[in-house]
Formats: sequence, structure tokens, C-alpha cells
Amino acid sequence: MSIGQNEKQRQEKLNDYVTTTHILSLIVIMLALILGKNLYVGNIYPVINIRFFLLINLLGFGAIVLYNMRFQLVKKASFLSLVDLLYVSFLLLIVVLMLFIVGDIGYYTEAILLLPIIITASILGKMPGLIMATVCSVILFIYKYNPQASIFYTFESNLILMSVMYILGWFIGSQMDLENKYRQELIKIANIDILTGLYNHRYFQEKIKVYFSLVSEQKPLSLLFIDIDYFKHYNDSYGHLAGDQVLSFMGDILQDTVKGKGFSARYGGEEFAVVLPNCDSETALKIAEEIRLKVSQHSFLGGQYQPGGKITISCGVATSPVHAKTIKELIKYADQALYRAKCLNKNKVELYFSVFDNLEVNESEEELLSSIYTLLSVINAKDRYTYGHSERVTEYSIKLAKEIGIGEKEIQLLRYAAFLHDIGKIEIDREILNKTEALSEEEWHILKQHPKWGSDIVKAVKNLQPVANIILQHHENYDGSGYPDGIKGKNIFSLSRIIRVVDSYDAMISNRPYQKIFSIDQVLDELERCSGTLYDPEIAACFIQLIKHEKNEPEVGEDIAVCK
Ligand code: GH3
Ligand code: MG
Ligand code: MG
Repeated sequence: MSIGQNEKQRQEKLNDYVTTTHILSLIVIMLALILGKNLYVGNIYPVINIRFFLLINLLGFGAIVLYNMRFQLVKKASFLSLVDLLYVSFLLLIVVLMLFIVGDIGYYTEAILLLPIIITASILGKMPGLIMATVCSVILFIYKYNPQASIFYTFESNLILMSVMYILGWFIGSQMDLENKYRQELIKIANIDILTGLYNHRYFQEKIKVYFSLVSEQKPLSLLFIDIDYFKHYNDSYGHLAGDQVLSFMGDILQDTVKGKGFSARYGGEEFAVVLPNCDSETALKIAEEIRLKVSQHSFLGGQYQPGGKITISCGVATSPVHAKTIKELIKYADQALYRAKCLNKNKVELYFSVFDNLEVNESEEELLSSIYTLLSVINAKDRYTYGHSERVTEYSIKLAKEIGIGEKEIQLLRYAAFLHDIGKIEIDREILNKTEALSEEEWHILKQHPKWGSDIVKAVKNLQPVANIILQHHENYDGSGYPDGIKGKNIFSLSRIIRVVDSYDAMISNRPYQKIFSIDQVLDELERCSGTLYDPEIAACFIQLIKHEKNEPEVGEDIAVCK
């Protein structure tokens, strides 16, 4: 059970105790009034006592309702002490009314003054308890004051009850102060991750619900998901103690950057979440970028031996309500954006977007589309060597298409086709996809079916039919030696020819099971060699230029541009 649930149960229990205290106190006071009246009048049910009965019940009921309301309000309000103050003032008013309207009709009436002291001390603590004891002592004094007797006599004759009032206020209040302090410390310990000083996963899950309930168009909520790049490598090289120091430093950076804007939490091992209420995507991207730069500019022990030449982070950003309608979606989308940042070379900030955002589909196709999306993640899980392959092919195909000067409408088709080009692999066995030895003829035959199968899957969505044709031809070769139909030259869709080049490039630079990993220069040589046979020579030349140009750009991590 979480501390939050414990706390709720504790409050409910306390509520029960206070309600019972009210009822018991009221019964005692009623008894006192009835007995007191009886001593004077000798009548067991005098009319006036029934009025007292009703009055006390009414006021007591009011107090209980108010007290219960207080718990409702406290959940939402930050003005807790104001609600408490109103509550104890109301209680005091009831007591004063009872004393002064009813008058001195019994021996124990003034004992009711203990009630506001007990309640005040138990809700607000020692100091307010003592103040209430002073207020009640003054009321007692006025109530008991007899103009015929001296002031000292009134004081002396009530001294014992006044002392009891102070002792009660002090004792109950001190207990409550102590318990509150202890509880606050426990909650802090339960909410904070010791290594980083950030909030922990449990607190994140509880708090994001609170922030999410306040989301509106005007008050968006952004979520950053951050993961340290190649952290296993760092731990393996420098040990977990050095790794811990990096995590602790991450905590400092996050606290420093996010201060006053939201809160950050350690989501898992070396994954962090930053919750930014009242923050749109644009501002969230700037904050994420600030964090990324701070990390990449810090010199950690041995950072220069990391694969990227330094310790870096990748970050995904998603915002509600623009991207996500539920908390689950918000977390899922920030995670998907992080995944994209990881696929596209790491040390990056990526804003969530769905490839299918602009695709118009009817209601029945919506489900189909979401199954296509699921199929794609199944393929990613199935084919462990293609981690992020569709994302990278999409990214580079679009870059290349823009370089060639292809129009926006066709780029949109290309976006879908590149993203979905391998979807037909869902039909292929995991063993074939992950096989490290050369494939047999039969296995090659199966693998060659995937453009056709993919095209059939995508065809089911009406607006994706042109995309299906592009997918069908993405393994056709310029010289007609490709599959499945052996189409030649410009008869192959230009968008398929683009995917053909980029797909090969990504396959060659990734560590595919059936291929040795090549350096970028080797891959470019290979593209050049096969230009005119496998690839459209113009497209291949343009792509080679694009990659060469990127290679000569300043090292990733130094540029501040946010990738969209
Ligand atoms: P990627 O760039 O894809 O993120 O690769 P990665 O190596 O960082 O992979 P991953 O995110 O899966 O790394 C998780 C590693 O984080 C595994 C473990 O060695 C390390 N880690 C998790 N918790 C701790 C911790 O408390 N202390 C230390 N030192 N290392 C931790
Ligand atoms: Mg991780
Ligand atoms: Mg990592």
C-alpha cells in the first residue's frame, strides 16, 4: 500500500475519531444539562431541555458536517489552515452560544469549553491549542464572573479547569506536532530517490494524476522522458560507482533547470521524467534542449571514451491535450518520442508526432490503423536488428525527397510508405529475420514476399492505397533485377526508388545479422558502386551528397537546433 493510500486511510480514521468525539461530547453535555435542570426543577422532560436537545444536536450536526467538509476541501485546497481556522472558530461559536444563550443551568456546563481546545490542538497543533486554551479561559472567566464576588475569587474557583485546559492544549498539540513532523519526514523519505535527490517513480505516478486533472487548452501539461545514452557501456567501463555519480549529477541538473517550472523524477534506472504543468510543447522543447546541452557540455570522468565522445542524453517530449487525451497516452507518447530520439543517433530532443496524424480515415479504418501501428511494434520486437529502422528510413527518405525537390503531397505519401515499408515482415518467422548464417533459397523466397504482403496489409485502409503500391515496389532494382515484379528504371515509382536507396543505406550501417557492419565511407562507396544497377543513379548521387554533407556538419550535440 502506498503512503498516499495510507495517508488517506489515516485521515479517514482521524475523521471518524473526531466525529465520535463530537457525538460523545454532545451526549455528555446533554446529560449534564438534563441532570442540572432536573436538580433545579425536578422535572425529567422540561420543554426547555427538549429545546436544548434540539439546539445542541443541530449545532453538533453542523460541526460534524463542517468537519467532514473540511476533508473534502483539504483535498483540493491549498488554504488548509484557513479552512481549519474557520472550523475551530465555528466550534467555539457553538460553545459560546450554548453557554451564554442557555445560561448556567447545571454544574458541568462549562466543561464543554474543553471541546474546542481538544479539536484545535488535534488539528492545528500546540501553539493554536494553547491560544484556544487562553480564549476558552477568558470565556470561562466571563461566564463565571459574579459581580458580587471579587475577580480573584472567580479566578481562583476556576483555576483547576483553566489549568486542565492549558495542559490539554499543550499535551494534545505537542503530540500532534510531533506526529506531523514525523509523518512529513516519512512522506519525504518515501517520495525521494536517495541517489539523485529527485522524486521517485511512485511520487511521479501520484503527482502526474493531480496535474493531469488540471489540464485544459489554456493550461497544457508537458512531459519529458530522458534516458542517458550508452549508459551500460559507461558502467561497464568505469564501474557502477562512477555511474552513480553521473546519475547524481543528472539529479542536480534536472533540479536546477526545472526549479519553479514543475518537478523531475527518477522514472527508472537511468531514465528520468520531467513534468511541466502550464507548459506548451514549444517551451517544453526549450527546457529539454537546455538539459541536453548542460549534460553534453559537462565533462564527466571518462566521458570522452563514450561512443559519442561524451556522456549525452536523449529526450522525448509530449504534451496534453494536443497530443494525449489520457495520462497513459501522455506517458506512452513521451516514451515514443524518446524512442525516436534514440533511433535518430541519440543526443537528441524529439517532440512526439504520429506519422498518421494527417491521414484521414473513417471510423472503421481507425481500428485498422491502430492495428497496423501495433504490427509495426511487433516487427520491431521480432527483428531485433532493425531497432528504429522504420524511423530512420522515414527521416532520411524525407530529407532526400526534399533535396530532390519533391512536392509536399508526395512527401506525405513517402512518409507513410517509408514508415510502413517493412510491415510485410510480420508474416516472416523470427528465426529467418534474426538468422546469422546465409539464408537458404527457400528462406530468401519467403523474405522476398514481404513487399507484396506489406502492400496487401496497407491496402485495407482506403487512403493508404497509393502507399501500398510504393511499398510493393520498394525492392525493385533500377536495372530490373529486383523483386517481386522485376520492373525497370523510371517505371518504378520514384518514391519507391528513394526508399530503395535509404533502406539499403540503413541496413548497411546497422548491424544486420546477415551483414558485417560497414563504416559510412564503405557504405557510400557501395551505394556508388551499385548506382545504375540497384539504385536510380540520380537519386543515389543526391543521397551520397546528403550524407557527405551531414558528415561534415559540426558534431551532433553542438548544434542547438531541435529536430522536428
Ligand atoms: P541507450 O543509449 O539505448 O539508452 O543504451 P544504454 O546502454 O543506456 O541502455 P539502457 O538505457 O537500457 O541502460 C540501462 C543501464 O543503466 C543498465 C544499468 O547498467 C544502468 N543502471 C540502471 N540503474 C543504475 C544505477 O542505479 N546505477 C548505475 N550505476 N547504473 C544503473
Ligand atoms: Mg534506459
Ligand atoms: Mg540509456
